[in-house]
Amino acid sequence: MRIREFQKQFEQIAPQAIAWKGDNIGLLLGRESDTIKNILVALDLTMDVAEEAAKKKANCIITHHPLLFHPLKNITADSRVGELILFLTENRINLYAAHTNLDSVKWGVNFSLAQSLGLTNVEILSPLNGSLTQIVVFVPHDHVEVVANAMHEAGAGMFTKYDQCSFRGEGIGTFRGLNDAKPFLGKVGKHERVQEVRLEILVENWKTSSVISAMVKAHPYEEVAYDILPLLNRNTEYGLGAIGDIPKKIPQNKFFELVKKTLGVRALKYSGTSNMIGRVAVCGGSGSECIADAVSRKADVMVTADLKYHTFQDFEKKILLVDAGHYETEHVVLPVLAAKIQEMFKRNNHSGKVYITKHSTNPVHIF
Ligand SMILES: [Zn+2]
Repeated sequence: MRIREFQKQFEQIAPQAIAWKGDNIGLLLGRESDTIKNILVALDLTMDVAEEAAKKKANCIITHHPLLFHPLKNITADSRVGELILFLTENRINLYAAHTNLDSVKWGVNFSLAQSLGLTNVEILSPLNGSLTQIVVFVPHDHVEVVANAMHEAGAGMFTKYDQCSFRGEGIGTFRGLNDAKPFLGKVGKHERVQEVRLEILVENWKTSSVISAMVKAHPYEEVAYDILPLLNRNTEYGLGAIGDIPKKIPQNKFFELVKKTLGVRALKYSGTSNMIGRVAVCGGSGSECIADAVSRKADVMVTADLKYHTFQDFEKKILLVDAGHYETEHVVLPVLAAKIQEMFKRNNHSGKVYITKHSTNPVHIF
């Protein structure tokens, strides 16, 4: 399996389009044509991780945090980033980053965090805005199945637990072919009235152009009439954070113990209070911007990281807010990520191994 194929398949389950604008994800260093031997996954790239990859013959490292974020003026061993790039290049190791796209999928960082805490009924906490489009196309009656199927095949009409979703309304389409037109129905120069179906299908923005191409290809008309309508609906399939329930409510202290034990945290920072905890919101890493959604969705507690003093203060009376550490709230995704890639290897009859780094890459220590 080559890096190119890996990218294509991985980005079907963690699309680049759902990442934050300005994030730096995908293949950061390497060659798409390289054949993958083994893969090593880690939250961050450190020299320990890079050396471990070389030792395990893993010629591809997948990290959550992108090593490259700002433009570089030079690549020398004098800087941390430069030294790592030199090492990877000298050892021909590819570097791939899955950052906010991995935060925003239902199997990613936040769902892994929710599942590790034993939450049930888990949903996206802050669904993605502006990612849905409605395609409306007018199809002659006896071609509607062919066109709809082509659009479904290209990925349109999927909604939560359903696929092949569409709406079909009957109506009359009119047209008159001019001069060199070659109408599929009727005659040139004659006003025609045709029984048509108004076919409406929902699509995620990043699939729009391939769905339109498939639709136009399957449509019998010389000129296809269609609308592309951006929707304001939020996309509940993708987004930041997760929210779910503890099956049986537990007191605050017991919840704190659960978080510490599950995530391997020695100390928690928190503000506010909650007697009994049932509804739990989480956002691995820096999740300050999801706190308002946790409050409005009536969570008893929000577990996240990188909280500022004034954020604790602002929400003190609104929600029990817990800072469990950035690394600690994210590392739970590594076994899930490794398992997803191992499944992909299996599907592709690739015999390589997927390793989880044995090193903690957490730069923060507690005394
Ligand atoms: Zn992070």
